[in-house]
Amino acid sequence: MTATSYRGACHCGNIHLEFETGMPVSDWPLRGCACGFCTRHGARYTSDPKGRLRIAVKDADALTRYRHGTESTDFLLCGRCGVYVGTVFDDEGELLSVVNVNALDCAGEVTHEMAALDHSARSGEDRRARWRKVWTPAELTL
Ligand SMILES: [Zn+2]
Repeated sequence: MTATSYRGACHCGNIHLEFETGMPVSDWPLRGCACGFCTRHGARYTSDPKGRLRIAVKDADALTRYRHGTESTDFLLCGRCGVYVGTVFDDEGELLSVVNVNALDCAGEVTHEMAALDHSARSGEDRRARWRKVWTPAELTL
């Protein structure tokens, strides 16, 4: 299947996103997280283990990495405009990610229902095993 690139950015343009996937938008898995951070942002996540997420940051000083919960993932926000673009996990040198669909240009086309995700009861090792299976390999360029 041919992969398509879906572009996105934060509001001020400091963070650029390119989500490459062979899945049509209507087939994207769409997940919401019940934690206090994600619900406050209204984040909607998707990922494709066979895809690729490229995150390019113009001004690295204006990239905010927020950590909470398990402390092993970085929630990436623009320090200038405050937009939350997604989360990355450094799996021993290999970067895995979920993108916040709301930060993609095609956000308005993503209208299917979100699956609720509450992994607060899972252990850290279970969580990491799941990320390795479903998250998107990522490149972060600063
Ligand atoms: Zn910004």
